[in-house]
Amino acid sequence: MVTSEPHTLQEGIEQAGHRLTYPRQAILDLVAQHPDGFTAEEVCAQLPQVGRATVYRTVKLLLDLGLVCKMTGPDGAPRYTLSVAGHHHHTLCVRCGAAADFQRCTVDLILQTLRAETAGVILGHRMEVYVLCPRCLEQEETTSSGSPT
Ligand SMILES: [Zn+2]
Ligand SMILES: [Zn+2]
Ligand SMILES: [Zn+2]
Repeated sequence: MVTSEPHTLQEGIEQAGHRLTYPRQAILDLVAQHPDGFTAEEVCAQLPQVGRATVYRTVKLLLDLGLVCKMTGPDGAPRYTLSVAGHHHHTLCVRCGAAADFQRCTVDLILQTLRAETAGVILGHRMEVYVLCPRCLEQEETTSSGSPT
């Protein structure tokens, strides 16, 4: 486990011994502006001057360093958010893909009751909670009649 959380993505990259090249810096700046999540394609679209391969490689690096979290978006595409310290889960808006974190986790308690029935040892768990975010909920209410998506 990592004991000291990096203060910024930049520090995280440098602490891991990676050079902060211009494309990386540009990607990190963009990612930091999207606390509710982003896809690699969105980064590509917003940084046309950075090559697609570099974007994907950098996102993978951030993931490997534990600086971002990966989840599956409503369209099945991988989505990423900035990682927060400690064990946590994500909520994901099924409409717009906005992600948020929550740290209150009672899953381990549930798993304790499973322990007796589970062969082997439970090492961890993953969970994503799908929501309609406040923004999309508001939109839904203003359009009143539920139009099919
Ligand atoms: Zn996370
Ligand atoms: Zn939403
Ligand atoms: Zn949990």
